[in-house]
Amino acid sequence: MSGIAAQVAAPAVATGWQERRATSAVGGPTSRLESLLDPVFVAEAGWDPTTRVLFLPHDHPQLGWPACRSAGCLSPVTAGQPRCARCRAEIPAGEAAHHDRPAGPQARPCQVAACTRQRRWVTAPYCRPHRDRWRAYRTAQADPDEQRWRRTEPAIEDGGQVSLRGLPPLVVAQILYGLQQRTRHGTVTRPVLLRQVVVGLRRGQVSSIEDPAAQLATDPAKVVSSFVRHVRRAFLDPESERVKDVWDLTAFGWRGRLDFTTISQRWLREAAKRWAADDLPHRRGKDGAGPVRAYVASLAAWSQSLRAVRPDRGNNPAALGRADVEGFLHRLAYLESVGRLSNDARIRHCRQLRHVLGRMRALGLTRAGAPAGGLGEDVTLGRGDVPEAPVPAEPGRDLPAEVMRQLCAHLPVLEHDISCRELRVAIELIMDSGRRPDEVDLEQLAPAERAETDHAVEVVRGHRTVMLGMPRTHPTLSGTSTERTA
Ligand SMILES: [Zn+2]
Ligand SMILES: [Zn+2]
Repeated sequence: MSGIAAQVAAPAVATGWQERRATSAVGGPTSRLESLLDPVFVAEAGWDPTTRVLFLPHDHPQLGWPACRSAGCLSPVTAGQPRCARCRAEIPAGEAAHHDRPAGPQARPCQVAACTRQRRWVTAPYCRPHRDRWRAYRTAQADPDEQRWRRTEPAIEDGGQVSLRGLPPLVVAQILYGLQQRTRHGTVTRPVLLRQVVVGLRRGQVSSIEDPAAQLATDPAKVVSSFVRHVRRAFLDPESERVKDVWDLTAFGWRGRLDFTTISQRWLREAAKRWAADDLPHRRGKDGAGPVRAYVASLAAWSQSLRAVRPDRGNNPAALGRADVEGFLHRLAYLESVGRLSNDARIRHCRQLRHVLGRMRALGLTRAGAPAGGLGEDVTLGRGDVPEAPVPAEPGRDLPAEVMRQLCAHLPVLEHDISCRELRVAIELIMDSGRRPDEVDLEQLAPAERAETDHAVEVVRGHRTVMLGMPRTHPTLSGTSTERTA
């Protein structure tokens, strides 16, 4: 599409994006990205869909820019300068309409695609600054291409303005979405930088920021790379991710990756993926993928044991039997006896393998034709196969002072990074009362406290596994753990 055509025709992104938000969950990549734009962010960034210009506020923490401090003046200043040149020279304010927003639909738009100004007069193609720029360009070039110049020439932008005119609707949506995600992650993108990116993209006449030419056309390229990363994530979906051996969990709504390559047997790896795809949507809390990783680690430990012991390296599920489970249990016992595995980790591996093998059966993965097809009924762990946790003597049931200190220090991490407010309240309550989750007696609390903690205790009851697994799975709490991995 030609930039000029886009300017004259109704701008697709401009007029339609809000109406399309509701209906465009499916459809082309442009509408997909538009559907992911948060109206709050779009307003915050000062996006004007009619003119297709961003009016970034000068006081925005990530998108702001240095503005003149004189009353009524918002002209950009070089960093460190309190007032703009115009104010320093005390030019009357009447002169200075220099940061006015352009009026809506234009009667006589300047023919430069990026420009928001009016032509000087009906017969002149350009606004005054662009007329001057065109004259300079025409003189400097041996063979000036006016149509191309119109498509690629930057706008005349005031402080905080970034014109996305002259870019295809897809690129506009990619920039807005990329900017939204960067800003949500707390990354600073100054208007100067964004403008440079847009100028580069326009000059390269790219149809998508994923076009390799987009990287070459823009300097610095790292902003475009981060836009590309965010845009790609918007298109990840569980269906295409679950065939891979390493999952980007963003597709499932979680952070980080889930690596199945530690499981060497093809059938077991596929079964693990099918189980994980079923399990992930049921997880809650901020690190819902953490427990799933722990289960996969237990499967990997079993996988390693099969590979080490069996002549077929465990590659044929139908050939496995009870002996392969017992072999694994003995191996764990041995690792604990030589100090390469903690008693905790040994118990956890057993519990987790027991759970996953049970779920795999329930999901039909052991039926003929399924990944674990032919896996015998005896390849399972009974309750008796899980070692008993040692019951500590009564005084030992108190958490050691060092653990309490770590727990207190990490309460904000618990609330903000790992779980939620309710879990923090619940843990504080348990710490204060010295009771266990099931022993907290709501009736003994004052009604006001009860209201706050009632829900919290529910959360704890519902999340006990998450909570119990937490101190060992989160790296910042690893100081509390004596675990050594095998
Ligand atoms: Zn000023
Ligand atoms: Zn112009």
